[in-house]
Order: sequence, then structure tokens, then C-alpha cells
Amino acid sequence: MRSVVVLGGGIVGLTMARELRGRGVEVELLESRRIGTGATAASTGILTPPQHTRTPFYQLRTLAWHSWPQFADDLATETGIDVGYRRCGGIDIRERTMRNPQREVRKLRNSGGRVEVLTGAEIRQLLPQMVRTPEAGLRVEMEARIDPLATIEALRQSCLASGVRIREDLGPIRIEPQGAAGIHLAGRQDLQLEQPSEHRKVVLAAGWESATAALAVPPSPLPLEPVPGEAIALDIEAPPHLVHFNVDLSGFRDASGNRSIYSWIPAPDGSSWLGNSVASGHRNGVDRGDPRDAVEPTREGHQELVEVALSMFGPGVENRITDHRAGIRPKATRHGGPLLGMWPGRPQLWVATGHYRAGLLVGPATATMVVDSMIDGTEIPEEFCVPV
Ligand SMILES: Cc1cc2nc3c(=O)[nH]c(=O)nc-3n(C[C@H](O)[C@H](O)[C@H](O)COP(=O)(O)OP(=O)(O)OC[C@H]3O[C@@H](n4cnc5c(N)ncnc54)[C@H](O)[C@@H]3O)c2cc1C
Repeated sequence: MRSVVVLGGGIVGLTMARELRGRGVEVELLESRRIGTGATAASTGILTPPQHTRTPFYQLRTLAWHSWPQFADDLATETGIDVGYRRCGGIDIRERTMRNPQREVRKLRNSGGRVEVLTGAEIRQLLPQMVRTPEAGLRVEMEARIDPLATIEALRQSCLASGVRIREDLGPIRIEPQGAAGIHLAGRQDLQLEQPSEHRKVVLAAGWESATAALAVPPSPLPLEPVPGEAIALDIEAPPHLVHFNVDLSGFRDASGNRSIYSWIPAPDGSSWLGNSVASGHRNGVDRGDPRDAVEPTREGHQELVEVALSMFGPGVENRITDHRAGIRPKATRHGGPLLGMWPGRPQLWVATGHYRAGLLVGPATATMVVDSMIDGTEIPEEFCVPV
């Protein structure tokens, strides 16, 4: 394999490009907007390991969890950028946990690391900024956070330094079928690709828009659902750990009517992030409209997150919001993890998308898995393959 075109400059496309270049392949990365304007830049940087390893997706998440420290070190060595990887641990004060902390301890036992039950007084001492008074909770050792924007910048610099050709602002690029098994790339302008098409493979890593980019290629469409999400930054001292909690907002429940889970996240600059709302178009009668609009922060998202912040930090918190981000998670709608591997019947076309809420955690590990398969023919678990 001499050359590859990667479509999409989020964490998945950038890690694919870096991995391919590291194995001696000529790589062009084509981005319809700017690098770091998709879901990756909107995300809040939580890395959570899985609680078991019974399915290929959980095995992949375990591998990803263990490979992140080395990945962060490598990026720092290559670019001098600290991507903010910190094994900060988490505090869980979700309702379910407070009702029966010991049951949650048993569930978490297999994920490794220390898990301890905290009393309400201990939690209030650790989190004096919080106005809530939980009765109990858990402290888990195995959680980490990164800085998504620093990660994107480090990946961009690493790619450029190794010779990846990055081109931005190209507008949406479409993949069209050519003959019985070939493909052709079409854009709003001549793409002027460096390598002739017969020597080239294409990796579709365009996040939630991967489905529309390959709409003309059977067996389209990819089973992918856009799930908008938003987060706010607060001028509130960072908690020592990630904090996970529920809020009973009657207008904001998930599709099954459950209370949404939110997280309070220590930001790299010592302040806080609060997220991550999960809207899938309609939620409990609240119409979030066309998911494309959710690339921009919405009024509804702001309202939801202000209510969440009020329940955590009390009155006046709305004046301490310093940033508001929105993005669209690519959720694979068939059972299993992300969509990875060769497009059925089109050996030139490969896919790496559908990472939903865990793209930061598993993006780098999936890049290694897909590149192994492209170069050595290593099999990708059936569960991740594009269904025929
Ligand atoms: C609010 C929020 C919080 C989140 N928090 C976390 C978290 O804490 N931890 C975690 O692991 N995950 C989190 N996620 C999920 C995570 O962000 C995603 O799983 C991950 O970023 C997906 O990466 P990606 O590269 O596939 O997509 P993206 O980052 O969206 O990148 C896709 C890129 O492709 C480009 N593109 C689109 N169409 C085309 C085309 N036709 N041709 C060329 N380029 C194209 C886009 O412009 C974009 O730059 C969060 C997501 C959101 C929205």
C-alpha cells in the first residue's frame, strides 16, 4: 500500500494519518472545515476504562485505557505539547450509587484500581464548591482526563512534522462508486490528489458525517446516528477528581426517561467544565431540531446546563460561565462498538467512525487496529465491521 487519503481531521482521522505515516505510507488528510472543529474539539476529555472485558468493544476500551499514557508521552516527545493526560480518578455520586454503594463497588472490582466508599461528610470536604449534600458516594482510582484541544494540536503538529499533507476548508467531500469495486472522490473543487487513484486507499473518518459522505456507495447508508452534546466552562475551582452525578430536570431525560448523568470535570487551567448533555433530536418533547444546527451551542443546551450548574453550585453560577461548546457524537446504531474496517465489496475504501461517547479514549487504539488490518491483513472483530 503506497498511499492513503484520510477524510476528516478529528481525533480518529488524525491518529489514523499519524499511524499510517509512521508505517511509511504517503498520507493526505482532507478536512472539509478546519482541523479540530468537530466533536473532538467540543468534548470534555474524560477517559473511563470499561468495567469488564466480555465483548470486543470492552476489550478494545481496555487496550485503549492502557495505551493512553504511552500515546500522551509520545506526542509530548514529538511535539513538546502536554496533552493534559492526568490519572485524576473519579467521584461517583449518582443516585444509583448513593442508594447502594456496595453493589457499585462489586461491579467496579474487575476494572482494576482502588474503589472506596465515601461518606457524605468526606465528599463535602473534598468538594467544598458544591452545594449538594450527598449521603454517600464512591471514589474510583481508574479515571483520567486529557485536554482535547491540546491533543488535536499535538496530533496536527506530529502529522505535519512526519510529512502528512493536510488540506483544510475543502467543503464536504463525497465518495462515489466507480465501476464494480472502485471508488472516486468528489469535492466542490478539483481535489488535485497527489497519487493516482488506482494506487490509493481512502479512510473515511468524518465523524457523524461519514454516513452522508458515502451515501452513494452500497450498502449505504452507514448505520450511524448523530447525537448532539454540549458542555460549559465555569470559572469555578477544579475538583480534585472527575465528579459524576444526576440531576432531576423534568424536561431533560434520556430516551428511556432516565435522569441524565452529568460530569464536573477538572480543566487543565485549574477551572471546571460541566457536561455533557445528550440530545438525540427529540428528548422528552424538547425538539432539538436538525442535528447540523447543534454544531453551534444552542439556547436549550445553555438552559439545561445552567440548571445543572445551579443544582451543583447554587445561585449566581450563570455569571461564571466562560465558554460553551457543542458537537455531534457519531453513534453506531447496530449492536457493538465503532464501525471499523474495509467497506464491503470496495477494497479501496476503509472506515473508522461511530465512536460515540468514547472517541477520545478509543480513537488512538482503533487507528492502530485499522492500520494493522490495512497493512498486514490482521482481522478486525466481526462486531465492528460495516454490515453488508
Ligand atoms: C459535548 C461532548 C462531550 C464529549 N466528551 C467525551 C469525553 O469526555 N470522552 C470521550 O472519549 N469522548 C467524548 N465525546 C465523544 C468524542 O468527542 C467523539 O467520539 C470523537 O471526538 C469522534 O471523533 P471523530 O474524529 O470520529 O469525529 P470529529 O471529531 O467530529 O471529526 C470529524 C471531522 O471530519 C470532518 N468532515 C466531515 N465530513 C467530511 C467530509 N465529507 N470530508 C472531509 N472531512 C469531513 C469534520 O469537519 C470533522 O473535523 C464527547 C462528544 C461531545 C459532543
